Amino acid sequence: MPIATVNPTTGQTLRTFDPLDARGIERCLADAAATAAAYRRTSFAERAELLTRAAALLEAETEDIARTMTTEMGKPLAAARAEAAKCAKAMRWYATRAEALLADEHPAPDDVRDAGAAAVRVAYRPLGVILAVMPWNFPLWQVVRFAAPALMAGNVGLLKHASNVPQTAVYLGGLFHRAGFPRGCFQTLLIGSAAVEGVLRDPRVAAATLTGSEPAGRAVASVAGDEVKKTVLELGGSDPFIVMPSADIDRAARTAVTARVQNNGQSCIAAKRFIVHTDVHDEFAERFTAGMRALTVGDPMEESTDVGPLATEAGRRDLEQLVDDAVRHGASVLCGGRRPPRHANGWFYEPTVLADVTPAMRIDQEEAFGPVATLYRVGSLDEAVERANDTPFGLSSNLWTRREKDVEQAARDLEAGGVFVNGMTASHPALPFGGVKRSGYGRELSGHGIREFCNITTVWRA
Ligand code: NDP
Repeated sequence: MPIATVNPTTGQTLRTFDPLDARGIERCLADAAATAAAYRRTSFAERAELLTRAAALLEAETEDIARTMTTEMGKPLAAARAEAAKCAKAMRWYATRAEALLADEHPAPDDVRDAGAAAVRVAYRPLGVILAVMPWNFPLWQVVRFAAPALMAGNVGLLKHASNVPQTAVYLGGLFHRAGFPRGCFQTLLIGSAAVEGVLRDPRVAAATLTGSEPAGRAVASVAGDEVKKTVLELGGSDPFIVMPSADIDRAARTAVTARVQNNGQSCIAAKRFIVHTDVHDEFAERFTAGMRALTVGDPMEESTDVGPLATEAGRRDLEQLVDDAVRHGASVLCGGRRPPRHANGWFYEPTVLADVTPAMRIDQEEAFGPVATLYRVGSLDEAVERANDTPFGLSSNLWTRREKDVEQAARDLEAGGVFVNGMTASHPALPFGGVKRSGYGRELSGHGIREFCNITTVWRA
């Protein structure tokens, strides 16, 4: 895949970039290692000042970077602005919380004595140089979600961003530098995926985090495993959205539309499978389909647009193939199911609802990374949970109900890293984020996220 900005709204290649050569990569690795040795000794207060400055810069530059993101991957401009604001908020959150989150821990006095010590403390020390392999769908947020805690913990970052968002990638490298972080603290490596293995195997790199597809995650985790290096993986999802008879059906249906088409349907935590109790199935299906049909598909730079193009031509082809396969195997198309005739140039796809979905269809088990929803009819919560768990993924989940018993059961039995009740899944700096099964492992955000790339050190004294 060439490193290039290709506008998905028009299909036009706007700018191409030469990948870093071996000497360039070596220079970045050397800078990262040298900086890591000094940066780990900085205080939380110093790091917090730099990160707060980065947040302020980002806020001041929101309009420009939002337009860059929309140009590179097609998200509606309002969503791009909101993404920049969310990044600034996360930076401030970690700037003010990191010291407390990484404070020394002191085991109970009895345990200290039992361990034969006069004193014991557990310290969270940085690991060093962390490689971040990141996707294009939230090209700022996915990176900041890693970078803010990593930098506050005293680590340094090397970013290998997706090849279709190079301008956003270059902006991020510059942002941290302009905020005052020492050279080498956070660098963008413009490299293709084939060059990742060499960087990851370099002894100066301590660990890696990847957000993206399962094959990419498997490739990076295999190399890291071979090198005995820690990884955090945030991979795909096919989140269930369960609707029970006691739910507020109107609100559930309206939220379902947003939950499915946010970011043009290209979000790992988008609700993708709508599992609805038979008593309310038809009413929900009617309202949900009406909401999906009413969306404005178009140029993401227009303020009135709800759904822009898919980010890449390959992404639209994959989505089309999933829908075509489902229809061939008997799925009913309640709306959409095709390219919008009015937008012939870019990589658009109509918001689509498929009913009568069965396990014979690929879409039943694969992630639909675009504005396509599948509907299932169930007779009980037991059946809904069974259906929800019948997927290789386990990122998050949604439940709509007014019954406390339903909530207890879902929170106990849904195989996912999150259970969101009467709302849609959304990430927040204070809440752990990540999944189980093929959705990956480890957690981002919150105290759990910042501790992933720490050397948890026992300091024992006689
Ligand atoms: P990829 O997983 O291929 O890309 C994500 C990142 O991984 C990019 O930086 C990419 O680099 C890199 N990468 C890809 N393959 C390798 C490899 N073998 N070794 C090292 N790095 C690698 O995502 P795609 O854009 O191809 O999207 C495909 C599917 O992935 C989507 O349809 C969706 O299902 C899922 N996805 C999930 C996301 C999430 O948020 N969980 C985000 C994006 C995609 P490069 O761009 O240079 O190939």
